[in-house]
Amino acid sequence: MNQLGRPTQAHFVTREAPETFTANRALQINEALIFETGREDFTGVDLDAPAPFTPRLGGLERQSELGLPGLSEPETMRHYVRLSQKNYAIDAGLYPLGSCTMKHNPRLNEKMARLPGFGDIHPLQPVSTVQGALELIEELSGWLLALTNMKAVAMSPKAGAHGEMCGMMAIKAAIAAKGEAATRKIVLAPESAHGTNPATAAALGFSVRAVPAGPDGLVHPDAVKAALGPDVAAIMLTNPNTCGLFERDIVEIARLVHEAGAYFYCDGANFNAIVGKVRPGDLGIDAMHINLHKTFSTPHGGGGPGAGPVVLSERLAAFAPVPFLRRDGDKLGLVEHVAGTQAFGRMTAFHGQMGMFVRALAYILSHGADGLAKASEDAVLAANYLRVGLSDLMSAPFGDRPCMHEALFDDTWLKDSGLTTLDFAKAMIDEGFHPMTIYFPLVVHGAMLIEPTESESRVSLELFLATMRDLAMRALRGETERFLGAPFYAPRRRLDETAAARKPVLRWRKPEPVEE
Ligand SMILES: *Cc1c(COP(=O)(O)O)cnc(C)c1O
Repeated sequence: MNQLGRPTQAHFVTREAPETFTANRALQINEALIFETGREDFTGVDLDAPAPFTPRLGGLERQSELGLPGLSEPETMRHYVRLSQKNYAIDAGLYPLGSCTMKHNPRLNEKMARLPGFGDIHPLQPVSTVQGALELIEELSGWLLALTNMKAVAMSPKAGAHGEMCGMMAIKAAIAAKGEAATRKIVLAPESAHGTNPATAAALGFSVRAVPAGPDGLVHPDAVKAALGPDVAAIMLTNPNTCGLFERDIVEIARLVHEAGAYFYCDGANFNAIVGKVRPGDLGIDAMHINLHKTFSTPHGGGGPGAGPVVLSERLAAFAPVPFLRRDGDKLGLVEHVAGTQAFGRMTAFHGQMGMFVRALAYILSHGADGLAKASEDAVLAANYLRVGLSDLMSAPFGDRPCMHEALFDDTWLKDSGLTTLDFAKAMIDEGFHPMTIYFPLVVHGAMLIEPTESESRVSLELFLATMRDLAMRALRGETERFLGAPFYAPRRRLDETAAARKPVLRWRKPEPVEE
């Protein structure tokens, strides 16, 4: 055993484990679909047939079976609890998914979000009865504006990608207001951009012009200058970028973009690396979404709710969508209609993700301004700890310099091993870790993007590091079997991921009865 109490010898069982009668693997219980376990002609309750009566539904009562699986309450409960246990979660272990920022969500946030005054209100309640909730939104808006040094914030977008859409719609409205809608049809995006950036631009009718990054992983002013022209509406740039690097020339890029009459959209998904250290407004950014669920805690694994407020500069503030808050003395109101404003419209039926707002403000207030800056510093420190700790074994394309909140490796180091990034990631599952982000960003071959976040302790980072080092040495030593067959211990082994993506089976159909 080493200091961490982990076996240092090859204890790996290459022998296949025995088949079990139940197909369970100890507490990993093989779970069928609820439609397969339950029977339609059963119900979970045992009620006597009602005495004859004349229905008052005018012949509209159901004539056929409900078609739902009938299970007892314990059976139903167990089904969903077992399913929930198949999820890897940040509350189960370190979740180093780069760009996604899976950070700890303090339980205090949950408690606050469940306060009846926040948790039990309805968006159609009269505003006079939800003044406290509106005040919370106002206070959170104030923090977001202060931390970014921007002029306005649209709170309603419900995710980062939704926020991109919102910011780009504000830009589109501003361009239309200047009478340039017909000429400015191009959006610039670097090749390292998150897929949502070009998708947003395309969804709004723009064409995307790619800007190459330099060999140092950064976007260079010369490349932007060459791509700019009177046909360009905006640039969409991520900062810190998806290689985990701070765009060194961002101020100069902003200047060039504005000089060309275009707008600067910043993808702020990585804001958690710079909160309290850098204000995006000071860099010349016109619009930026903030993923509350990446920067200000709130749980978002498994596609749970997010929130993507968008901060806007002076040049775009007037185009912010409705609804927005307006204060009249000590009363808060909501501007709900576009008439009489320059608002480009509305993103969503109501006011945004109230539960996320409460969690974000609870996180902000419990850290305070100094604590937020410290969290950014710790996120960067943790990422660099891993970068340096793995640098002698794994190849890091930009590893000659400190990174921001995530450390990027490529697959050059695996070149002679016969293994791929995917194989390596699958072996991490057997070790009890969620794999890092793989094959993104696309600009790096076989990318492995590791983001530990500020919430991991030194001990937890050490264990992750020791595990990664152990796996890396095995890969380099030629223990390919361990990787090619992985995961060995997961409820499902290697899946046909291409078929799953191309031909997803999204609906269960009752199998044809088999003739005896
Ligand atoms: C997560 C992310 C997005 C999209 O945010 P969602 O909240 O998932 O819609 C966009 N860009 C980058 C760089 C991201 O990491």
